[in-house]
Amino acid sequence: MIPAEFEYVAPSTVEEAVQALDRAGDDAKVLAGGQSLLPVLRMRMADPGLVVDLGGIPEARGVREDGDTLVIGAMTSHHEVMRSELVRGHAELVALTTRTVADPQVRHRGTFGGSLAHADPAGDLLAPALAMDAEMVVAGPSGRRTVPAAEFFVDYFTTTLESNEVLVEVRIPKYTGWRAHYEKFNRVAQAWSVVGVAATVLVRDGVVARARVGLTNMGATPVRAHGVEQALVGSPPTEEAVRRAAAHATEGTQAGSDASAEADYREHLAEVLTGRALATAASG
Ligand code: FAD
Repeated sequence: MIPAEFEYVAPSTVEEAVQALDRAGDDAKVLAGGQSLLPVLRMRMADPGLVVDLGGIPEARGVREDGDTLVIGAMTSHHEVMRSELVRGHAELVALTTRTVADPQVRHRGTFGGSLAHADPAGDLLAPALAMDAEMVVAGPSGRRTVPAAEFFVDYFTTTLESNEVLVEVRIPKYTGWRAHYEKFNRVAQAWSVVGVAATVLVRDGVVARARVGLTNMGATPVRAHGVEQALVGSPPTEEAVRRAAAHATEGTQAGSDASAEADYREHLAEVLTGRALATAASG
């Protein structure tokens, strides 16, 4: 199908983008990589009068360091994220998860910020963002605010972003030296997760000193598996310790049923995939 007619602007600064969105009220949409928005427009599930393309805003693109923090511009493509030495060195979980997103075509167009702003519960990058305590830097008419990932994702396809706000960058504390793995179950190669588990651990002297685990598609928003983390920390990452920790995987989840899987199968997957993610991460 063909989208309904809309006006198109391509601002060169974040402030110009915010002004354009603010002027349009609720009648505008931000365009990032377009991998999710364009199908929505073509199916006429949305028909905004204005599309604000962030593609020409240099500030929103690229990966940099800011002291102990890694900063990923919202408009950085999945391809750039997974190839970035900085991401691989300080947020390996993000790089490994991004590798599982879709196919090379989608990864060249789709963006890190677009995935987070879209907030598809089956989207793979939400779980690592949550598990790693990422912070979203959001620009609006009255300036910028920082939103922790734990508060950013509100519901299915819903974040705290207002219609006149733009996600500018994502700030992630550095996880240098941590080991990581993203374990994803999907029915078709290169598709979204039926369930996914993002795990990163810091092993010191053969013992798990710290652990972070996030679950994909186990509810309307990504879920932080605090019970798993607490159960594993302080133990050597043996098969038995990993199995005991993974038994906590479904705590706080609200898995839904859909054409891909029933809720109880998702719960089974969450436990199995958590065990695999932890074992693989811990073994380095
Ligand atoms: P867009 O499509 O441009 O925007 C998506 C939404 O977010 C829109 O509502 C837009 O207004 C809003 N938005 C985007 N950027 C911002 C911003 N900076 N500030 C405010 N609002 C913003 N994803 C996965 O995680 N795993 C997969 O396996 C996977 N498989 C895919 C397979 C296919 C065939 C396709 C087409 C997509 C797939 N995706 C998958 C989705 C892909 O990762 C998209 O890149 C992502 O969903 C949206 O990113 P985008 O940059 O294309 O955003």
